Amino acid sequence: MTQTKLEVAQPKVGLSACLAGFEVRYDGQHKRSSLCLNELAEHFSFQTFCPEVAAGFGTPRPTMRLVGDPSNPDLRYTSEVIAMDRDLGEQLREGFVDKLEEFSDLDGYILMKNSPSCGMERVKVYQSNGHPSQTPGRGLFAAALMERYPLLPVEEEGRLHDAKLYENFVLRVYAYRNFRSEVLDNPSMKAIIAFHSSYKYVLMAQSPSQYKKLGNIVANHQQLDTEEVIKRYQLALTDALAKPAGRGNHTNTLEHILGYLKKSTSGEARQSIKETIHKYRLGEIPLVVPLTLLKHYIDQHGDAYIRTQRYLQPYPESMQLRNRI
Ligand code: SF4
Repeated sequence: MTQTKLEVAQPKVGLSACLAGFEVRYDGQHKRSSLCLNELAEHFSFQTFCPEVAAGFGTPRPTMRLVGDPSNPDLRYTSEVIAMDRDLGEQLREGFVDKLEEFSDLDGYILMKNSPSCGMERVKVYQSNGHPSQTPGRGLFAAALMERYPLLPVEEEGRLHDAKLYENFVLRVYAYRNFRSEVLDNPSMKAIIAFHSSYKYVLMAQSPSQYKKLGNIVANHQQLDTEEVIKRYQLALTDALAKPAGRGNHTNTLEHILGYLKKSTSGEARQSIKETIHKYRLGEIPLVVPLTLLKHYIDQHGDAYIRTQRYLQPYPESMQLRNRI
């Protein structure tokens, strides 16, 4: 396909340093992620960071854990013999506060799970009885990162081993990058309309109701200024992409796209595509199969509008993510 418009520069993604193979963990070991280093590194430019090392805790170091109020926990050494009373949270924050500002050019972040610094969710928060609270918490660095950049796609490496979450994270990273380069770098109503138009089928597959909501924002019936429209759009876009799209929505989207081929392909060819879409709906084949078939006909007969739909290639095809969902 000659779709130069769909090409995009490599996203910059933050990565917990231990996942990149650096020996920065409390025990002097690493947690090298082959998924990040063997698969994603071909497409993402990683920026690695260890908040505990940056805060001067040293390696190796005594283990730490979150304690107290899960919504605002302290960070303390696990061992009672090492200054149990001292909250280490302030020291940790001082180590990353300047670094956070440098992350404004990132397109996503991959964090190490369960860490009192980097864990994105379900991090244990211990109580005075020595047991974890029923309510889990978030690592202190992860919490600050997500508060500073609430729209940034963030995910834990462990969750990326789920094919749907993996695909969804990559989709979000590229959408975030595209939105910044195509809309935020040169904000205008024309830019946001073009972005919305190219993401039409991605949004339809994610959530028809959110697609409609985004359409209303772009229509701008309230005559808001461009800055406000863009702000509202990016918030709603983040919501729309937050969860993986289901088979039902993908099926409807594929059928909509098939509608474009009504006049240009034979009834026999369309029937064959329909059957392939149906097999996908039943879970017998992955998404890549009906999509490849549709793209074959779009290459031959599709107009510029359908050819430049991001749904056909929301990230580099060589990532092969649609073979897995
Ligand atoms: Fe450092 Fe975070 Fe890895 Fe812990 S989880 S070693 S703080 S990068």
